[in-house]
Amino acid sequence: MNEYFNVADIFGDNVFNDQMMQERLPKKIYRKLKETIREGRDLDPDTADVVEHEMKDWAIEKGATHFTHWFQPLTGVTAEKHDSFISAPMENGKVLMTFSGKELIKGEPDASSFPSGGLRATFEARGYTAWDPTSPAFVRQDAAGATLCIPTAFCSFTGEALDQKTPLLRSMEALSKQTIRLLRLLGNTTSKKAVPCVGIEQEYFLIDRNDFLVRKDLVYTGRTLVGAMPPKGQEMDDHYFGAIRERIGAFMRDVNTELWKLGVAAKTQHNEAAPGQHELAPIYTQVNVAVDHNQMIMETLKKVAYRHNLQCLLHEKPFAGVNGSGKHDNWSLVTDDGINLLDPGKTPHENVQFLLVLCCILKAVDVHADLLRESAADVGNDHRLGADEAPPAIISVYLGEQLQDVLSQLISTGFATHSIGEKKLETGVKTLPEFLKDAADRNRTSPFAFTGNKFEFRMVGSEDSAGEPNTVINTIVAEAFSDAAEELEKAENVDLAVHDLIKRYAAEHQRIVFNGNGYSQEWVEEAERRGLPHIKNMVDAIPALTHEKTIRLFERFGVLTRAELVSRAEIEYEIYAKKLNIEAKTLIDITKKQIIPSVIRYTTVLAESINQVRAACEADVSTQSQMLLEVSDLLAKTRLGLSKLEQAQGEGVKMQGGRERAVYYRDNVREVMGELRISVDKLEMLLDKEMWPMPSYGDMLFEV
Ligand code: ADP
Ligand code: MG
Repeated sequence: MNEYFNVADIFGDNVFNDQMMQERLPKKIYRKLKETIREGRDLDPDTADVVEHEMKDWAIEKGATHFTHWFQPLTGVTAEKHDSFISAPMENGKVLMTFSGKELIKGEPDASSFPSGGLRATFEARGYTAWDPTSPAFVRQDAAGATLCIPTAFCSFTGEALDQKTPLLRSMEALSKQTIRLLRLLGNTTSKKAVPCVGIEQEYFLIDRNDFLVRKDLVYTGRTLVGAMPPKGQEMDDHYFGAIRERIGAFMRDVNTELWKLGVAAKTQHNEAAPGQHELAPIYTQVNVAVDHNQMIMETLKKVAYRHNLQCLLHEKPFAGVNGSGKHDNWSLVTDDGINLLDPGKTPHENVQFLLVLCCILKAVDVHADLLRESAADVGNDHRLGADEAPPAIISVYLGEQLQDVLSQLISTGFATHSIGEKKLETGVKTLPEFLKDAADRNRTSPFAFTGNKFEFRMVGSEDSAGEPNTVINTIVAEAFSDAAEELEKAENVDLAVHDLIKRYAAEHQRIVFNGNGYSQEWVEEAERRGLPHIKNMVDAIPALTHEKTIRLFERFGVLTRAELVSRAEIEYEIYAKKLNIEAKTLIDITKKQIIPSVIRYTTVLAESINQVRAACEADVSTQSQMLLEVSDLLAKTRLGLSKLEQAQGEGVKMQGGRERAVYYRDNVREVMGELRISVDKLEMLLDKEMWPMPSYGDMLFEV
């Protein structure tokens, strides 16, 4: 059954990529399209008509019967609306396969089914999707048939962004413009454009689908709402980089094949820290494509898991007490002529351009730490950030020894005269080749870490779209570049002014740099002394979206308007309350219909056995009686917790939407859910396993 193939033969097979366009489009049209893409102009209708025609023929050759505008509304997942290529039957009873340039450029899904946070009056349901020609169309083949997917942006009738993509594209333009402006001041006359490049590492859990289906908490909420810890956790660290088991290996192989066909350069795969947890990373690419690809990766993981009778869990914290999942967003900034502005070279102290870029980024992260934190906030991530496993909820930047040293020299003397060099790694084994250590070690506890020639933003949740975090990074960096450029443009001696700027930014924003252990309590206290924001949950993070500072930032660069930001905050409060409400209802349901009945059955069996033993002999039954008492006591506590939760949830649904309701769910409903869980988890440890109504953590994590 095994089919072996050369990856190069299938890579990008299902993508209408550059090579395909070059092959199929008339030369003139191809050139025009490339120009449009390069210069970010609108596509004219005549060109669109020709592109659509070729795209359609190509897709039909791949078996496509339908096409869809594929877009990313503010729900975190992708949306699509399928239309078939079929025209109305002709007189001879046949149909034509049609698709017009207009259909390529513009779609009109009913926007009323997507959140708009008050941007769209209910009577005005129209929304538009518009082709993003910088992200290639692809054909998705699966059991449902083949569909031509056209990546699009999604806007309201009046042009407000209703999706993740529109602001991301706007932020890329802004950043490119400000980067070139700054580079010109530094003497660069060749670069025309700068593109943020991103590689997104995706973590996920895999469990057996049969287990999944009987865990209603996983089915409805994506995470376990109850569940006691197994005897073995991740303390042995034997899972990370452990050999990949064959069932998982077969799954990964299928995932890779699907992704390669879609032009996603899936590259690295390994087990993660927790049992049952894995990671997949593609090779980095320009950010809007990387964000699209990340969505395709999530879809593919879920779909392929299904085929292997597995379930892929993308939730940030599917299992309490076990490491959660994130998405590491590796970000760099590269010019069209190939200069990575985050590459320090061997002697960073001499690299003025790098130091200026670095200090601008420090300033950006320091000034907008609250906004960056917000961009990684989602309901699931609240269970992860700040626990001793993922980055803490406090934003800081890790620079490593070498850069920290350069920065310290700058701050103390105004000059950096040397860089700590690379050191030989002494393995003590003569037969091993000598190799040089990286100048900077890694620090896995940092939320925003410099890793050689890129920054790694580790806070993003595994299930969340990477669109928002990247929009924020692009825009805050654009602002810092723009501020710097403004000063330099006024300077009489640019070289001196650059030097002063670097020194000033380094001194003013050094409080955001932290190279130590981000998990420690000392850091929490130290960060407070430094005045860094410590935002512990999503509800407290959301207000950053509508701070005047944020509105000014986004409006200045045309990325988001005040109205769009207000609507985004509304949507987030709404999502928070809704998700917690579903969790509460699910926990009520499980406790009532599964847990309590099972516990009653168990106590009945225990009571009967006590009676029978008593009747049969004189044996001491005090142990059994003790057990019965203990279980009955926990049952009473569970019953009490349940009624508290029912009451809290009942009040919650009656409330008006908005911030107040989100706060209520966080402070009341979430707390009560936690209390109820404690008694249920204790019961799980006491009951006969055969009588417990659902698979345990051990079953799910160790028996895939
Ligand atoms: P790790 O050891 O953290 O897994 P890797 O070097 O494997 O780091 O890279 C992780 C991700 O970062 C990959 O997606 C990779 O393509 C991406 N990456 C590597 N270099 C860059 C860069 N210069 N800019 C952006 N992303 C990068
Ligand atoms: Mg990494």
